[in-house]
Amino acid sequence: MNIQEIKEQLLLYTDEDRVMEYEPMDLHTSFRCGGAADLFVTPAGVGELMNVLDLVRTRKIPYLVLGNGSNVLFRDGGYHGMVIRVGEGMDRVRIEGQTVFAEPGVSLAKLSRMAAAEGLSGLEFACGIPGSLGGAVYMNAGAYDHELKDVLLSVSSINRIGMMKDRKAEDCGFGYRRSIYMENGEVILGVKLFLKPDSKMDIDARMKDYTLRRNSKQPVNLPSAGSFFKRPEGHFAGKLIEDAGLKGLQIGGAQVSPMHAGFLVNNGGATASDVLDLMRVVQETVMDKFGVMLEPEVRIVGEP
Ligand SMILES: Cc1cc2nc3c(=O)[nH]c(=O)nc-3n(C[C@H](O)[C@H](O)[C@H](O)COP(=O)(O)OP(=O)(O)OC[C@H]3O[C@@H](n4cnc5c(N)ncnc54)[C@H](O)[C@@H]3O)c2cc1C
Repeated sequence: MNIQEIKEQLLLYTDEDRVMEYEPMDLHTSFRCGGAADLFVTPAGVGELMNVLDLVRTRKIPYLVLGNGSNVLFRDGGYHGMVIRVGEGMDRVRIEGQTVFAEPGVSLAKLSRMAAAEGLSGLEFACGIPGSLGGAVYMNAGAYDHELKDVLLSVSSINRIGMMKDRKAEDCGFGYRRSIYMENGEVILGVKLFLKPDSKMDIDARMKDYTLRRNSKQPVNLPSAGSFFKRPEGHFAGKLIEDAGLKGLQIGGAQVSPMHAGFLVNNGGATASDVLDLMRVVQETVMDKFGVMLEPEVRIVGEP
């Protein structure tokens, strides 16, 4: 792809400061590592996003939609194509009674605070998840026995040929860290949620409790993508890794967190290869000792 030519076309739709060439992905991911994206664009709103998607479609440019980058690991070779960030500018929220209409770029933390301020319960579990709403729908994010799907009414998206889709929550293929959007490549544009009225004091108390639990058990001060592996059926990934004696194991700058073995953290200067080498050692050791294959929850993308 001719980067200059594509950039010129992008500038027909959006401002110059919203289009970057060879943008390092460590700046946009919570792991703080990985190579550069050939083009990185932050559309200012849903209209601009639609134009950008039209461009990548007609020019057959490889693209990847990024929310807050808190569940993605870019390999060190970067991304040959366009990374489209859905964040500020696509973060409007409207609350009508118990129904919340939200754009995908709003952060989960902000959305759960807004709901709490209205005396609406159901998003307390999400107050410490550092993702966007779009990323949370894609991942069916969850914590403390709650998942996003529990409070979702419907999702609107745009498919690979530019058609708008509206799906009820039950048609979104939700499962444990799974949604239909992982298979169909659609871009999530809008989300409708339904929450329950409750006392603001109780909602606040639950949010405080979840935050305390998170801060006391998870390495929230080090770059990571949260729990690196999915929970294998009948087990907990962190416990298997700890029982395999891998807590604290370090390869390059990547480490199995000494605080919570389910987290692989960037302990300073980790490359994506360090993280992936550590991931493989963890997978092989846990497989050898317990016969369980750990599957990454984190989305691994880009060029080696
Ligand atoms: C410290 C820490 C704690 C965490 N705790 C939890 C937790 O308790 N529970 C949990 O479930 N997760 C947790 N996570 C992981 C992560 O925050 C969630 O998976 C979150 O939902 C990802 O959202 P995001 O916007 O960062 O998505 P990104 O990482 O940007 O993207 C994730 C995937 O979603 C896709 N995507 C993003 N936006 C869109 C869109 N608009 N349309 C289509 N596809 C899209 C991307 O292409 C990518 O494949 C944690 C992460 C960290 C760093």
